[in-house]
Amino acid sequence: MQTHEIVKRFREHFEKAGHKFVPSASLLLDDPNLLFVNAGMVPFKPYFLGEAPPPAPRMTSVQKCVRTPDIDEVGKTTRHLTFFQMAGNFSIGDYFKEDAIRLAWELVTNPQDQGGYGFDPERIWVTVYLDDDEAIELWQKVAGLPLERIQRRDVEDNFWSMGVPGPCGPCSEIYYDRGPEYGREGGPVVDEDRYLEIWNLVFMQNVRGEGGAKKDYPILGELPAKNIDTGMGVERVAYLLQGVDNVYETDLVRAVITKAEELSGRKYGDNETDDVRFRVIADHARSGVLLVGDGVTPGNEARGYVLRRLLRRIIRSSRLLGVTQPVLPLFAEVVRDSMGPAYPELVGGYARIEQVLKAEEDTFLRTLDSGSRIFETAAGQVKAEGLATLPGDKAFQLHDTYGFPIDLTLEMASEAGLTVDEDGFRKLMAEQRARAKADAAGKKTGHGDQTVYRELLELGATEFTGYTELASEATLR
Ligand code: ATP
Ligand code: MG
Ligand code: MG
Ligand code: MG
Repeated sequence: MQTHEIVKRFREHFEKAGHKFVPSASLLLDDPNLLFVNAGMVPFKPYFLGEAPPPAPRMTSVQKCVRTPDIDEVGKTTRHLTFFQMAGNFSIGDYFKEDAIRLAWELVTNPQDQGGYGFDPERIWVTVYLDDDEAIELWQKVAGLPLERIQRRDVEDNFWSMGVPGPCGPCSEIYYDRGPEYGREGGPVVDEDRYLEIWNLVFMQNVRGEGGAKKDYPILGELPAKNIDTGMGVERVAYLLQGVDNVYETDLVRAVITKAEELSGRKYGDNETDDVRFRVIADHARSGVLLVGDGVTPGNEARGYVLRRLLRRIIRSSRLLGVTQPVLPLFAEVVRDSMGPAYPELVGGYARIEQVLKAEEDTFLRTLDSGSRIFETAAGQVKAEGLATLPGDKAFQLHDTYGFPIDLTLEMASEAGLTVDEDGFRKLMAEQRARAKADAAGKKTGHGDQTVYRELLELGATEFTGYTELASEATLR
């Protein structure tokens, strides 16, 4: 079943059940906790918080999502993309747990000739929050699931909150057992590769108070009107229904791999090292193009930095596959053709997208080779001295003169079996910033609202952890 059909069935299923379809929002919503929209519920937050009346009490959407905290999983697990589509259904004070479970169960298990996805009910497992006995009963009653395939999980995995005082509640996740050849028996609690998570149902039933870390906040009581928020991974369902091995090989992602095969003359499937590179390229090409499509331009801060890192990683991965010509516009064309039907902004805005990508690639290619040589020489020297840490001033030089995002240097170092003196790097970055600040103060240029992001970037190499924490805190599920 093709991705567009999976999306179509989702929408029809929920429209039939009285949901209003709401088109995907931009990846760039104004949210102090998030760089990018990372879940289907983000655009609906004001309704859940009671800050605005919803257009309808029942809504459904297929939302573009970017999760950069998952970047290190990309290509290595079978299920993590930095860009993916989350299909969801939402109830604002309308139906609750029983209907949410029933609606999801029907779509997942109804036969394909009756509008469903046709998953074998015998291979479905679910998790529920520790004390959510109500959910356990409902899974048995509504879906006929035996107790052995319902597992309890703690706060970390199965309790959701927005990261701020307000609505929160237990989750219940739906998993598909890919079979014994993919891992250990025992359900998702034991093995999340064999048991693939496809859908998360959030039962927003409580109100939480102030509190520091995830587990510390108090539960103040029950919400007067309970809400439902669910998210199904479209590419994960596609991966299972298309009989391929991972999300990167699904119809709308695989096309980029094919292009990379053509350019490199290498074959996907020949060796694992190259395969990871092919998958990274395929994923990052989608997230890169979709981000530029929504208005991000590469830069050294915040969103621009994330985009730059994704794009430079594509270029370097292509180099490692033996491709020396410019690649970004070539991959972008493929993404436009596969994703354009669902996201027309990629077609309408293509000239701009292409121009932004070309400029970024030109800039990076001008310094990539000399930077790589600097790195090789420095790495060779470190090893010759019997050491294992690349000095901070090398990382700084690569960043400052050759445009290597620190993450790229970290990645290259790790491939060479080295670490990087990140403290030294950060110190030099801070000194440089202080100099720039002193200059700017002289010229009186104001960058008021960038300070938050600047502070994140002060953290240098750990900046991604910063985003990760912010992002996962905001969608704790
Ligand atoms: P996982 O445990 O596999 O990382 P998650 O629990 O972080 O997933 P949720 O936050 O519950 O994911 O998001 C809802 C759904 O979105 C998931 O059930 C999954 O189908 C999909 N999803 C989440 N992260 C990704 C990703 N990086 N790539 C593709 N799909 C994803
Ligand atoms: Mg995750
Ligand atoms: Mg999970
Ligand atoms: Mg989940």
